[in-house]
Amino acid sequence: LNSIQGKSALVLGGSRGIGAAVARRLAAGGASVAITYVQGAAAADAVVDDIVKAGGRAIAVQADSASDAAIESAVAKTREAFGGFDILVNNAGVLAIAPIEDFSTEDLDRTLAVNVRAAVIASRAAARVMGQGGRIIHIGSTNADRMPFAGGAVYAMSKSALQGLTQGLARDLGPKGITVNVVQPGPVDTDMNPANGPMAANLVPMLAVGRYGRPEEVASFVAYLAGPEAANITGASLMIDGGFAA
Ligand code: NDP
Repeated sequence: LNSIQGKSALVLGGSRGIGAAVARRLAAGGASVAITYVQGAAAADAVVDDIVKAGGRAIAVQADSASDAAIESAVAKTREAFGGFDILVNNAGVLAIAPIEDFSTEDLDRTLAVNVRAAVIASRAAARVMGQGGRIIHIGSTNADRMPFAGGAVYAMSKSALQGLTQGLARDLGPKGITVNVVQPGPVDTDMNPANGPMAANLVPMLAVGRYGRPEEVASFVAYLAGPEAANITGASLMIDGGFAA
């Protein structure tokens, strides 16, 4: 069976949206779960409370993914709390949309820091402490492969960068029994991209299934990749996008 019982997981950006669903799903599978957040302490505490009430183990750590030290501290706190480190889900991400003529340098730097640089720092910290059966799962985007609207060039670039990182890390870590993959969602109903929000009218017609994805659907896929039955999947960019890129 694809059991993650007793594993120790860290979900970067786990207080809301896809990350919160991933944290709840991993905990439901028996993993101990640490989540990070930046501003949403109450939301993070609510995720932890739900997991603990259901009989699981969870902690919340304030850690801005733009800070190397904060990420490294979150990895250390996960190990201290749970006595191991098996699963990293690098989910924290930011979305800035603007025509390139108006795209601010601040948004460029923030996107690269949170969506790209943090993926490398977190993977490095995880690789130093993970053993056989370890899992690194990045949350990318279908926009790495298809960018069908204007204003998303920097976001798409940040998610394409995860593909190269994933392929290279798979080569580094395969011999240690650690897999590395990037899960690429299509539009998913979250605060970042609500199904009744301003982007939905353009996006829904591009979806083969005719609807937004749900955070729980991405979480289920991540939980599968985190388990032992997914040991032969590595270096892969894996769509879960309702046919957005089809
Ligand atoms: P949300 O904006 O709904 O939630 C983001 C989560 O990440 C929150 O828990 C937030 O915490 C946390 N977070 C944000 N910035 C940071 C940071 N710098 N450091 C640590 N935590 C941070 O996003 P989604 O759930 O929609 O997206 C999650 C991931 O999925 C992102 O990488 C996104 O690019 C990707 N994605 C989303 C899609 C969608 O349609 N929703 C489609 C494809 C990919 P806090 O509340 O404290 O800010």
